Amino acid sequence: MSLSENIKDFGLDLGYSKIGITTADGFPDYIVELNSRRDMYAWYIESAFQPLTGADPKSVMPSAKSIIVVVYDAFKESFPEKLVGKIGRLYQSRCYLTPRHRINGARRQLMREFLEKSGCQVAQRLVVPERLSAARAGIVTYGKNTFAFAEGIGSFILVTAFIVDAELEYDEPTMEVKCPPKCTACFDACPTGALYESLKMDPRRCIAFNTFMTQDDYLVGVTSYIPPDIREKMGIWIHGCDICQEVCPRNQKRLKAKLPQNEFLTKVAQDFELAKLLNLSDEFYIERVQPLMYNYIRDKKYFQRNAAIALGNMGDPTFIPDLAQAMQDPEGLVRAYAAWALGKIGGSQVRQILEANLARETDEFAKREIQDVLAAT
Ligand code: SF4
Ligand code: SF4
Repeated sequence: MSLSENIKDFGLDLGYSKIGITTADGFPDYIVELNSRRDMYAWYIESAFQPLTGADPKSVMPSAKSIIVVVYDAFKESFPEKLVGKIGRLYQSRCYLTPRHRINGARRQLMREFLEKSGCQVAQRLVVPERLSAARAGIVTYGKNTFAFAEGIGSFILVTAFIVDAELEYDEPTMEVKCPPKCTACFDACPTGALYESLKMDPRRCIAFNTFMTQDDYLVGVTSYIPPDIREKMGIWIHGCDICQEVCPRNQKRLKAKLPQNEFLTKVAQDFELAKLLNLSDEFYIERVQPLMYNYIRDKKYFQRNAAIALGNMGDPTFIPDLAQAMQDPEGLVRAYAAWALGKIGGSQVRQILEANLARETDEFAKREIQDVLAAT
């Protein structure tokens, strides 16, 4: 058996659903595209991922010959109703950016070790454009919504690429958009207009981006501030957004399939409440929040902010006491978004709470949010 076949067999045995191989040639069109949209992508271009470097693998690893791309099916099991619509399925599946000591991270590490034991040098910390690599390796096609779709699975997948110095057997590329030509379901459904053209999305308007990338001192040109027009459209999403994938005809087979339950998720979902996320105890954070949403957020206050936005968008007066409690939180950010959420619910009780809090508020942003709500009511 050739090394390429051996690698593919091993990947399938590990639990990956598709494995393809392409050359380690660069992605010049991607570099041009990313540079032409610096206004939208400066945060990514200048991040530790260094995507412009990764798009030209041989510039940092001259010996690079091949990219092995694997697809993990994140939707083999069903997702609890209580978490769907709040946490993106990819995050619930716990396969994305997973540390090595957890099962999906261990799988990636086992693949890397197999490649090394097979005599390959494997690049470290080199981030190639993964969806493009997968299409060039013949294991996905594109959707107009910018997601990669694997045949027979759909777009709820994780794509991982390994760059190696071995010459391998290359697969036929499938670099095409395979959507029904007239379909616009994802554009029509995107609440914020983040999807604005086939294969083009403005991440700054994307709900997913706003749930986890908007943190202070995290990315170049990005802060924790979420503009009110985006907040209103975030619905009850607190980590990710699946809307443009949920409406997609290419995902319906999987979305409607009767799949087995995941026992861990079922357990986590039992006591998962937005109000608990808002007034977040260390215990709930460690036991329920971190196991699912470990990827980007390291500070409780951003989950609390997201929960406040979600509760505001629910507009349910039942949550006024929880939001009033959040107005006492030590973090100004939490108080600010709790004020906004109370404003979305409205009424005389809300007004009284906000007036009482304004008198003692010391945080300038929280003060402004309270004043904005009071001025609007
Ligand atoms: S993830 Fe949500 S907000 Fe982002 S492009 Fe898709 S539908 Fe729009
Ligand atoms: S919703 Fe339609 S246009 Fe959008 S990705 Fe799916 S098939 Fe393509």
